[in-house]
Amino acid sequence: MAMIPGPSPTGASKFEVKSTLSRQRVSIFESELSSHGSSAGFEATPAPDLSIAQPSITVMQCRLCSCTFTESGPRMPKILPNCMHTICAQCARELTDQRCPLDHNQIPLRYTTKDFPDNFMLIQHIQAMNVLEGKDKLCDVCDEEDADVSTHFCVDCKQYLCEIHFSAHVRSKTSKTHQVLTVNDYASRFHPSDHGCLERNHVSPLFCQVSGHESQRSDFFCELCEQVICTTCALMDHRDHVFGDIEDVYQRQKSELHEKINFSKETRTNIANSLSNVNSVLQSLEANFESASCDADELMESIVQKLFERKFFLMSQLKEIYDEKRSVLLSQRRLLSDALVRIDTSHSFCRELLETTDHQRALDMKRMVRLSLEEIPKLVAHRDLSPSMDDVVVFKRLNESKIIEDLETLGRVSKERPQEKACIPRWDQSRRGQDVMLSNGDSTVYRTDHRGWGGVQGKQVISSGQYRMRISIDSVGNNTFVGICYNDANLNEGPSKRNILLRENGEIWHHGEKVGTCEGFKTADVLELVIDVDEQKFQIFRDGKVLCTVEVLTWPVRPFVVVGSRHSYITIVP
Ligand SMILES: [Zn+2]
Ligand SMILES: [Zn+2]
Ligand SMILES: [Zn+2]
Ligand SMILES: [Zn+2]
Ligand SMILES: [Zn+2]
Ligand SMILES: [Zn+2]
Repeated sequence: MAMIPGPSPTGASKFEVKSTLSRQRVSIFESELSSHGSSAGFEATPAPDLSIAQPSITVMQCRLCSCTFTESGPRMPKILPNCMHTICAQCARELTDQRCPLDHNQIPLRYTTKDFPDNFMLIQHIQAMNVLEGKDKLCDVCDEEDADVSTHFCVDCKQYLCEIHFSAHVRSKTSKTHQVLTVNDYASRFHPSDHGCLERNHVSPLFCQVSGHESQRSDFFCELCEQVICTTCALMDHRDHVFGDIEDVYQRQKSELHEKINFSKETRTNIANSLSNVNSVLQSLEANFESASCDADELMESIVQKLFERKFFLMSQLKEIYDEKRSVLLSQRRLLSDALVRIDTSHSFCRELLETTDHQRALDMKRMVRLSLEEIPKLVAHRDLSPSMDDVVVFKRLNESKIIEDLETLGRVSKERPQEKACIPRWDQSRRGQDVMLSNGDSTVYRTDHRGWGGVQGKQVISSGQYRMRISIDSVGNNTFVGICYNDANLNEGPSKRNILLRENGEIWHHGEKVGTCEGFKTADVLELVIDVDEQKFQIFRDGKVLCTVEVLTWPVRPFVVVGSRHSYITIVP
């Protein structure tokens, strides 16, 4: 199995090969998976990706600490059981709870941080990279602190060996049959002429984990114990178990795994749909909040505006009355004070006149003085003696409590169900059964043959909210059904477990069973399909009257019609 598929960089320099290699996609079952548009790479993308196809890019760094993965030691790539995220061994050891830090998935309790499996594919990739980079490899057998530079590589042990350990290795009973290459020969396997690929036969064999079997290759797989075992194990402990040759079991497992991946794709599609629905509901919630706040603000502003207008009106009325009364009082005051001055002046002159000794001249003025004194009572008219208007300006608080009470009921905030949405007014070209034809911009469906069943799904996938779709029965033949179905419904089937249908003769079919009858429909009818996820029901109306109501518990669904004969024409009315 080629681990790093890709175009051949023949003739390229070492550096170019290296960079091409590091960018290659690496997946477990490379060709099968990519041809089915899915992935099983080392890392899933961090943000939820709505598209089904995901490229599996080799990520050479730990997503938690950003260290570059190494083929051994604390920066070795480890797989988190359950979600299959890859992080470095150091980060794995530092996990505080049994959860993946990237997606919060629970890690099964039977795993401890020490026994998370190695990401062997990534390790092999790193090994190939290291060879291509021509780094001096230290002996894997020497003490770590002062290891010698290696001169050889044992393909069987997958170990670099220094001169001393190489001699020991080829002399030892257990390893003298091993295939040992010089480091240069080993490196040449990854030379550009070798297509930059790590071939299957370069991958070190796995040895039996049972103590005493360390030198035995695990060539079998025990299906009961789900582990790889050696020949001795197969003949002893696993004698009565079902086991098989690694390659045979692998090929079988591969197709089983493949089926499981395909099976879980539906779940992924549903979750991705739900996620996109949650996102769009979230978006419309934000938009609603925005416009509701604006409405409330506008209402309050208009009330405040009215209050100011009223205030201005009352204040100006108040001012008008005040000004009017004030000017009257001011002129009365002037009149009275002028009169007082006039009287006081006359009186003081007269008193002086009474004191004078010049009686002759005094008498000479008698006529003028008499007239002046006689004028005094006429100075102020009787009505001017009392304040011209003794009323006061009053502001009366009217309707205060009523208006405050009304203000408390001004506006109302509530949760409301959104309006029904109209379905996309098209049938889905890619989801139609045998002999089913579409016309009118995919809005009309009909059959060219009437043998067997043939249906078509609507474009709209419904997993939240309420949807409405109007269809016109242009012409109806025998075995015409309208309703809804699940995403994966068989398109060459009549009433079945994967759909809910109303037949032209009024039969109501639910999950392959006839659950009731109603009036049915005929040529020239216009039917309204109402699909309500919140209320978990599906209804068909004609002329505003309900024909049938069916409870729906599984989502998403799609509009669906089965045209059972060549005489049926059904068109979606936008
Ligand atoms: Zn994870
Ligand atoms: Zn890390
Ligand atoms: Zn050594
Ligand atoms: Zn060896
Ligand atoms: Zn077994
Ligand atoms: Zn064994």
